[in-house]
Amino acid sequence: MMTMQAGKSATAVDEIELDAPIFDPTAFRLNDEQAAIIATGRVLGQTVFASRATAYDRDAKFPTENYRDLHRAGLLGIAIPKKHGGLGADYQTYAIAAAEIGRYCGATALTWNMHVCSTLWSGPLADDLDMEASIRADHEQRRAVHYNRIIDDGAIYSQPFSEGGAAAAGGVAFGTEAKPVRGGWIVNGKKIFASLSGHADYYGVLCTEIAEGEKASRRNTLYLALPARAAGVSVVGDWDPLGMRGTVSRTLLFKDVFVAEDAALMPRGVYFQAAMRWPHMFLTLSPTYVGLAQAAYDFTVRYLRGEVPGTPPVKRRMYPTKQIAVAQMQIKLEQIKAVWFQAVTEARPNPTKEQVLRAYAAQYSAMEGANEIATLAIRTCGGQAMLKSLALERIYRDSRCGSLMLPWTAELCLDRIGREALYETDESDD
Ligand SMILES: Cc1cc2nc3c(=O)[nH]c(=O)nc-3n(C[C@H](O)[C@H](O)[C@H](O)COP(=O)(O)OP(=O)(O)OC[C@H]3O[C@@H](n4cnc5c(N)ncnc54)[C@H](O)[C@@H]3O)c2cc1C
Repeated sequence: MMTMQAGKSATAVDEIELDAPIFDPTAFRLNDEQAAIIATGRVLGQTVFASRATAYDRDAKFPTENYRDLHRAGLLGIAIPKKHGGLGADYQTYAIAAAEIGRYCGATALTWNMHVCSTLWSGPLADDLDMEASIRADHEQRRAVHYNRIIDDGAIYSQPFSEGGAAAAGGVAFGTEAKPVRGGWIVNGKKIFASLSGHADYYGVLCTEIAEGEKASRRNTLYLALPARAAGVSVVGDWDPLGMRGTVSRTLLFKDVFVAEDAALMPRGVYFQAAMRWPHMFLTLSPTYVGLAQAAYDFTVRYLRGEVPGTPPVKRRMYPTKQIAVAQMQIKLEQIKAVWFQAVTEARPNPTKEQVLRAYAAQYSAMEGANEIATLAIRTCGGQAMLKSLALERIYRDSRCGSLMLPWTAELCLDRIGREALYETDESDD
């Protein structure tokens, strides 16, 4: 019997043979609480989300039903501190749970990431940053408003920051502007590729606070939860992409939108501080792709063993070329898992240079590696395996999107690793 099969367990309740976890809790030293939260994601993913994924992908439809289930399972509040009614998961636990969901539905995992980051960044991450006591107390009150909406009402938050310019890569201030007015701000701007557009209840918009006559500065970045139904908010453009179709990442326009003070997901200056001191905050798009890498591998093993429902048993596994390809996929998968697990485990404020370079390497490995494994999976399984009736074709297309995600695209990771490995801060050749 193969390892993957040996790791399975049968549930008495629904008689579905559950997949083994991507990260075995004992081998990866996860505690019982972490293992239970991660298992909730895996079981929901396998038993419910996997069967819905085809339709969301085909119709480029947002996975609304999955979000109801995530709410019921407590997973909309996975990173919300326990004192606010959430599961209180740390970064590592969230990341592994997201990988498990990505294994069964990439679009659900990727959009769930945008939602969870609204709580992770305003929650445990913000707790690691410097704030005066009175500002922290205000923040505590404000975030409770957001958390209550999520826990009690199943409110969904998104995270649009891409604008099509250099801002999302971290180069310049966001072009979306928030003008301070009595009781809040007036927001104007545009966000492209805004996943969950038309489906989130609140858009967690990154924008630049600019008072009359001031110049835009990244230091003045605000992170505001705009109510989706506020006057002046509109969703435009169509959405018919190659992959991650269920994310519904259309364009958001903000025209003189009034946003009240309590909409701030982070106090003034704290997003900028986070971007400088907590760089792993930008690694959270990668778990989805670790899940897709595992999914492509799982599919190949099952397919070659003749265990994929709806396909004829293909007697191919005895050929050395197939075995070598599976070996290459398994090696690649373990390489991704190893560097990625280490990186998500050491996410913290003020990481060392080595840890930051490793985080870039983990992002690059997951984003490029998932597609490499999916490509090999299609070549190895053959023509019958790339039919739209099977999951592999969707996994392949979804996996292609990983390296495009700003601010840590595959190209930018290479740029940063090369530069930061060769130059110390403030060093130049002049
Ligand atoms: C399925 C999907 C969902 C998404 N969801 C969201 C979301 O919810 N929220 C959100 O904010 N964004 C989201 N994005 C957007 C994503 O993060 C990128 O912003 C987007 O893919 C950029 O596309 P672009 O063509 O404008 O890239 P460009 O900015 O034109 O960049 C093209 C490429 O050039 C490189 N590049 C960019 N800037 C630099 C630089 N300064 N130096 C060197 N190289 C550079 C990068 O490698 C990049 O891939 C999503 C994208 C996809 C595909």
